[in-house]
This record gives sequence, structure tokens and C-alpha cells, in this order.
Amino acid sequence: MRYSKYFIPTLKENPGEAQVVSHRLMLRAGMISQLSAGIYNWLPLGLKVLQKVSEIVRDELNKASAIEILMPTLQPVELWQESGRYDAYGAEMLRIKDRNNREYAYGPTAEEVVTDIFRKNIRSYKDMPKNLYNIQWKFRDETRPRFGLMRGREFLMKDAYSFDVDYEAAKKSYYRMFTAYLNIFERMGLKTIPMQADTGPIGGNLSHEFIVLAETGESQVYCHKDFLKTDAPQGVDFDSDLLPIYEKWTSLYAATDEVCKEEDIKKEDIITARGIEVGQVFYLGKKYSEKLKAEVLNDKGQPVTVEMGCYGIGVSRVVPAIIEASHDEHGIIWPESVAPFKAVVINLNQGVSETDKVSEEIYQKLLNAKVDVLYDDRNERAGVKFKDNDLIGIPYQIIVGKKGLENGGVVEFKTRKTGEKETLSVEEALNKIIGK
Ligand code: ATP
Ligand code: MG
Repeated sequence: MRYSKYFIPTLKENPGEAQVVSHRLMLRAGMISQLSAGIYNWLPLGLKVLQKVSEIVRDELNKASAIEILMPTLQPVELWQESGRYDAYGAEMLRIKDRNNREYAYGPTAEEVVTDIFRKNIRSYKDMPKNLYNIQWKFRDETRPRFGLMRGREFLMKDAYSFDVDYEAAKKSYYRMFTAYLNIFERMGLKTIPMQADTGPIGGNLSHEFIVLAETGESQVYCHKDFLKTDAPQGVDFDSDLLPIYEKWTSLYAATDEVCKEEDIKKEDIITARGIEVGQVFYLGKKYSEKLKAEVLNDKGQPVTVEMGCYGIGVSRVVPAIIEASHDEHGIIWPESVAPFKAVVINLNQGVSETDKVSEEIYQKLLNAKVDVLYDDRNERAGVKFKDNDLIGIPYQIIVGKKGLENGGVVEFKTRKTGEKETLSVEEALNKIIGK
């Protein structure tokens, strides 16, 4: 992509309305712009990151045997009346009427719709377990939308729903999603902590919130220090017994203030921190299946009400969460897996035939090698280019200048994360990117 023909409207000044660093940097890097309270445009750079995050979520869920569908944003309210949540959900649900005066909700979540799909299509234990998910925009009319996409009103969520014939099977579905979540966040370069969450009237202990540690987070976390040293179980066979993985992770301590005070824990092993909830896994039991009569025949030919679980990830919240966890005073530092581009070629002397020629050549070679690369070919001063490129946080910069080309045909290779700069031949610089 040629920067001069692309659309990255960076800002020099800090936008006054942004209180947290991720919101500030997303606006300054030209990733998003606000359309209305809690409602944002995703500009090209932001959209690329959002798509990469979605793709990791999709890939890991597919590995865990979840099946992608797409449910509409508008839901007939009759389903909400059936589940008993029409009144209970309250003012957070945006209600809309069509020309025939039929009422719809802009979906804040989709338990009702997915249960309706299930009950109309699945009749036998032989077709189970099933886990259906979608990545779709949600709307919640939050009282205080804030911190940009962190707490928006319209936001992108991955919501998965498991259906099982009995509790034992439902637990297995829960462990499967729990394990998939560990891998999803690890692949995005995030350290998350699964924190035991309140299950309310459903009871039991099968609910966890996945928390990214960040000073600006809205959740208070107490967790065992070993969490920070534990790696996600990548490459796991999802058909195998996942209980040991679940037990390993839940044997470490993570809880809220209240729980922590109640229980006898060694204070010196505990980290007190703030965090951002990026996902939640929740065993639902028969809460929705009973109300909506989602039944199947079991192996004895008897009808049973199915057991459900729901599993959310705030896909659009993950983007600012990554920035909260990975930035410096110059801007964003993208982990490679979610970076909008893997590398940028910065031409310091645009219009000088030799630097133009070499920059163009590097750019073409990277394109040919299928590297997602940006070419900063703008007619701008070097200082502006350095600032913008540090701000937008692409992991590797190949900097091409007249001086280097005259002094032995070398370029600079900068790693954004460490700030380390190496002087390399064009070939060596290319190998660093293509070889990775
Ligand atoms: P919160 O406690 O932050 O309001 P929640 O517990 O109500 O979130 P869930 O119903 O568990 O949210 O939704 C699943 C995920 O969707 C959350 O873990 C979070 O990452 C994300 N999410 C929820 N509300 C918002 C929002 N207003 N803006 C952005 N992401 C959100
Ligand atoms: Mg939650």
C-alpha cells in the first residue's frame, strides 16, 4: 500500500476528549473517528487491526470445533418476551419500530436468537454437542460510554453458544472455550488472567472473565504472580480431556477484592492490579433452553432440555486493550500478529531518483513475497515520516535515505518495539522481513 494514496488521517495534537492512552492513540493514529456518543467510524488502519483480531478469534474457535454463523443485528422482541428478558434487560436495549409498528431490538447479545435456531433445527443427541458463534455488531445503550471503543455503545462482539445433552458434556464445552480463550489472547500478544466471576442465580463456579492487566482498566484484580509466567497451551487437541489445563489455570488465584478477603491466601504471592475485561465464559445451564423449549431426544429416546453456555469476546475492545498493554511515548507498538502492516518502507528523500528507485524496489520485492507492507512515499520531511510511523506502530521500518545509499548502498532497519536500529544492505534488510 502506498501511503500517499492511502487514508491515515493522523493528528499532531492530543485530542482533548480522550482520557485514556488507547483512545488517544487510536484517534491520533487515524484508526477511528467518532460519529456520535459511543459510536465510531473504523478508518482503514483501525479496520485492518479489527480484521486481524477477528481472524485470530475465528481461527482458534474453529480449531475448538465451534461453527461460525451470522445472526442479524435486529431481533424481533417476541423472542425476548419468551425468554422473560424483554423487561429485565432495561434501558440498555435499543428498541426500534418498523413501518408496521413491529418492535425490534438492536441485539445487545444473542442467546434468544441462537436458541431459536437450535430448537428449530436440532432434535437428537446424535447431532450434539454443537457450538455456534458469530462475530457481529452489538448495541448497548450504556449510561456512560467512555474511553473510545473500550466502552462503546455499538461494538463488535464474538459470541459463541454451546449446546449439550447433559451437565457433564456442558462442562467439557466450557473447558474447550476456556482453553481456546487462553490461546486466542496469547496469539494477540496479550497476557490475560481468567478471573472467577459471579454466576448470579445460575450458581456454580463455571464463569470466568478474561482480564488484561492495564492501569486504566475498570476491573480490580487480585491474582497469583505465577499467572504472569504461565504460557497458553497452544497446539492442544480439543478432543482430548481438557480438565487438566482448566485445573492448572484455575488452581492459580484470581479474584475480586471481596472474594480475596474472604479466603485465606498468602498475601506475598498476590498481585493487586487493574484490568480490562476482554472476554467472558459462562455456563448457563437451562436458563434459556427451558424458557424457549429447546429439547432433544437423548440416547434413551426421552426428551431432555439442553444445557447451554455462552462465551463472549469484545473484539472491538481487544484493539484498545492491546494498545493499553503495548505502547510507548511515541505511539503504538503492534504485536506482529495484529499489526495493520508487518513492515513499512520509509523513503526519506522522496523525489530523489536513487532513493525512489531503491525504495520502490524494496517495496515491490516485499509485495512479491506476500508481505503486508506500507510504502511511505509521501512528499514529507523526514521528521514527519519518523513521527507518523512511530505513532502508527508498524513492527519493522526499512528506512531508505540518500546518505546511506551513497555510503555503500545501505539502509536502516528499525524494530519499533525495541527502537533498535541496524545498518544493513538492502538484501539483508529484506531477509529480515521475508525470513520471519
Ligand atoms: P462490562 O462488565 O465491561 O460492561 P459485560 O460483562 O456486560 O461487560 P458481556 O455481556 O460479558 O459484557 O459481553 C462480552 C464481552 O463484550 C465483554 O467481555 C467485553 O469484552 C465486551 N463488551 C461488553 N460491553 C462492551 C461495550 N460497551 N463496549 C465494548 N465492549 C464491550
Ligand atoms: Mg462480562
